[in-house]
Amino acid sequence: MGKFLRAIVAMIAAFGLVAWIAVSTRSGQDILLPRLINAALQSQPDVPFDGLRVFMCGTSSPLPSADRAQACVAVFAGSSLYLVDAGEGSSETFNLHNESTLNLKAVLLTHFHSDHISGIPDFNLNSWVTGRKEPLVLIGPAGVERIAMGFNEAFAMDRSYRVAHHGEAMLPPALGELDFREIAVNESWTDGELTITAYPVDHGPVSPAVGYRFDYRGRAVVVSGDSNVVDSLVTAAKGADLLLHDALSLTLIQTMESALATVGRDRQSKIMHDIQNYHAHASTLGDAASKAGVKLLAAYHLVPPPRNTLMKNVFVRELAEGTVMTTDGMVFELPAGSDAINVHEP
Ligand SMILES: [Zn+2]
Ligand SMILES: [Zn+2]
Repeated sequence: MGKFLRAIVAMIAAFGLVAWIAVSTRSGQDILLPRLINAALQSQPDVPFDGLRVFMCGTSSPLPSADRAQACVAVFAGSSLYLVDAGEGSSETFNLHNESTLNLKAVLLTHFHSDHISGIPDFNLNSWVTGRKEPLVLIGPAGVERIAMGFNEAFAMDRSYRVAHHGEAMLPPALGELDFREIAVNESWTDGELTITAYPVDHGPVSPAVGYRFDYRGRAVVVSGDSNVVDSLVTAAKGADLLLHDALSLTLIQTMESALATVGRDRQSKIMHDIQNYHAHASTLGDAASKAGVKLLAAYHLVPPPRNTLMKNVFVRELAEGTVMTTDGMVFELPAGSDAINVHEP
């Protein structure tokens, strides 16, 4: 072994020993722990991004996934934060990536399937504890009042324990209760320079169901929720910078349908059959995005969420070239006064 090589090996061994001492001994742990916590806290950005910033807090569907939460897209517009849906696990994904819910204004609901609403109580609690200044609003089509009132009732005791424990000064009871606002198709919600518009989608037999378009300082993002490809998408996404759309791989779902039937799991097989007509087939998204003149198409709410490289590759071959297959923690930045779309992998 040459002199240089021996020096490298000795250096790696020395680093390994120091790392082992730091992690495995009591004194090493006591020195390392506060430094790691400080580093994590300092990684939180405190200056709002100048433009639209999209954080993927959930890219899965109801089928299980070890590393994806259910449907959730976070859109930061200046200092405001809006979520489109909040499925199971999405609040945890949000927190694990050190995103702050302090400026969370509303959760925009596309429809009321469980994989789009299960995470609402976690976001409500988290933002309340973080110090949100106004009640969290659920915005959605007709029926949103039942969702807000139902969660308020289900979590009434939880809220009372937390107020008793931390005090009303820290947790004002009125800010712990969800507010709601019904939105009609083609109606808009405005917040300063931000306009959010609901558009009709096709998720039959689920009705009403909508998608949302965000316009902010010359940049536009469209989020579909669950839908087949419909004409209203092309209209709503006209000229948008980024389209995030629900996507189903027919190859994967039909293969699962047959395999389940072969082993006699007829109920699961029937579900794989039934879901094929109410999510956008991955192969149809590219055409719709081109017709609308969308600059970047990205697939989320993946049906099924790929569990390995093989499944991912099969899914990707159904998507048009250039389509981004999103993952939890992915970030899209659309700076104001620019055409740039910066994609950051987690
Ligand atoms: Zn869904
Ligand atoms: Zn759905």
